[in-house]
Amino acid sequence: MNSSDRKFENELCKVGVLRLFLCSPIHFKRSFSLYLFGIFCLSLLTLLALLQLFRRFVFFVGFGQVPCAEMKLSTLLGNEEDCQGLQHRLWRLVPQQTQDIIATGILLIFLPLWYFLHFFVILPTWYPAFGEAWVIRAVPYAFFIFNIYINWSFMVYHGPNGRNTVLPNVVTPGFKFCHHCQTNAPPRSHHCPVCNVCILKRDHHNSFGGVCVGHFNHRYFIAAILHFWLISLIFLSYSISFVSLQLEGGITVGRLWQIFIPHVAFAFRFLTLHQFVCVLMMAFNMTILAFATYLVSAQAFCLWRGQTRVEYLMDIHAFNLGLLENIRQTCGSRWFLIAISPVIPSPLPSNGLSFHSKEYAREATKSL
Ligand SMILES: [Zn+2]
Ligand SMILES: [Zn+2]
Repeated sequence: MNSSDRKFENELCKVGVLRLFLCSPIHFKRSFSLYLFGIFCLSLLTLLALLQLFRRFVFFVGFGQVPCAEMKLSTLLGNEEDCQGLQHRLWRLVPQQTQDIIATGILLIFLPLWYFLHFFVILPTWYPAFGEAWVIRAVPYAFFIFNIYINWSFMVYHGPNGRNTVLPNVVTPGFKFCHHCQTNAPPRSHHCPVCNVCILKRDHHNSFGGVCVGHFNHRYFIAAILHFWLISLIFLSYSISFVSLQLEGGITVGRLWQIFIPHVAFAFRFLTLHQFVCVLMMAFNMTILAFATYLVSAQAFCLWRGQTRVEYLMDIHAFNLGLLENIRQTCGSRWFLIAISPVIPSPLPSNGLSFHSKEYAREATKSL
């Protein structure tokens, strides 16, 4: 370990629990061949994901029925006119509502700039850009960020309603009539007021993609927020170390008030403009991490209880099959691999039209 590594580790000691988490790349460095092998695997997965996305896009603008985010249930019944026409298909990808436009703008413009700042301003404080120590850290971080965006793209392309789903013409038990769509909707589906369509196993409307999260794109959303949480945690720990370097004497108990009310500290000249900006940046990182933690814990809570967010709000408990089965119902049979890459197939046990409920599980156990 060279002196910059040691200095950095000493800095991290001040951050406490994050130390172990952040020091892992240093251990990678010791066994460099293992690290190279890891990079090779990540690159392969990245390439596969890019190829998949490209293939989907060509398919999307070219020909054929596509997974349709706003597919109306009438479309699912066989009337496919809603998804025809290149212009219509491309138009569907553009967020229409104000909140969707703002959120998607943040995700596609602001966040990449934010990550760029961390790679080329904050990280080089300890490791010169494109040096060995920098590359060793930047590659896995870039992979996490890449996975956020690639999962997000899959989430938007796939849509919550999937494709080739044909609703039965008879009213099946559990179906309910949707007055907005004027059709019978399957159990667990709910009408989205923003997309103005019924969504299979609707979780919530995701403004960051202008699309609902439902049965067929839930796994991509979960994988994206897991990576988002991870990278937020890493970058927050870097920015804490960065701020403690900028403040003479580091972050001490006596200076904590300057972190919490930096504008007052700046107004009374306890902080210079540069320090004030650094503290604001750290506060912003904390906000991002708090938001990511909320997203991850809300999803974990719902998986634990076998509910979607809508069912949680409506207090529906009928579909809780136990934690592992709940995860399998949402993320598919290869749920343990979904965080690695969206290109890994993970077939869902349900077609989105019928779901196993607690009563069904009880009956099945009885008949054994
Ligand atoms: Zn509806
Ligand atoms: Zn929606």
